Amino acid sequence: MRCTSCNTEVKAKENFVMFPCPNCGKTIIVRCNSCKASGRKYACSECGFVGP
Ligand SMILES: [Zn+2]
Ligand SMILES: [Zn+2]
Repeated sequence: MRCTSCNTEVKAKENFVMFPCPNCGKTIIVRCNSCKASGRKYACSECGFVGP
């Protein structure tokens, strides 16, 4: 599994968060800790929603 923002592979459960796209709910957004901490943007591949 890879971080949606930076494409880094995530493994440990504590190292990332995942949640459905807030806009369409069709895709699972994965964010690693560093992207979460720095507020890096992510984009939904399904609907193009971009969020912090
Ligand atoms: Zn990341
Ligand atoms: Zn979406």
